[in-house]
Amino acid sequence: MNNSTKKPPVVPCPNCGTELVWDTSNSYRPFCSASCKNNDLVAWANEDHAIPGQPLEDVFSEDLDRNY
Ligand SMILES: [Zn+2]
Repeated sequence: MNNSTKKPPVVPCPNCGTELVWDTSNSYRPFCSASCKNNDLVAWANEDHAIPGQPLEDVFSEDLDRNY
């Protein structure tokens, strides 16, 4: 009935929280800028490294075995 005023969704940037209009012309979406997009990718990469296949304790005991 009243669909004439169609607003684009506004989403917060996952990295810095800045609200931005979701626009298909924004190649950085859902981020507000290229730097935020890169920051998030870096964070993701670090998180991947922080979650190895084995628990940290196993890695530590392996090192201890080598030292002994
Ligand atoms: Zn941002």
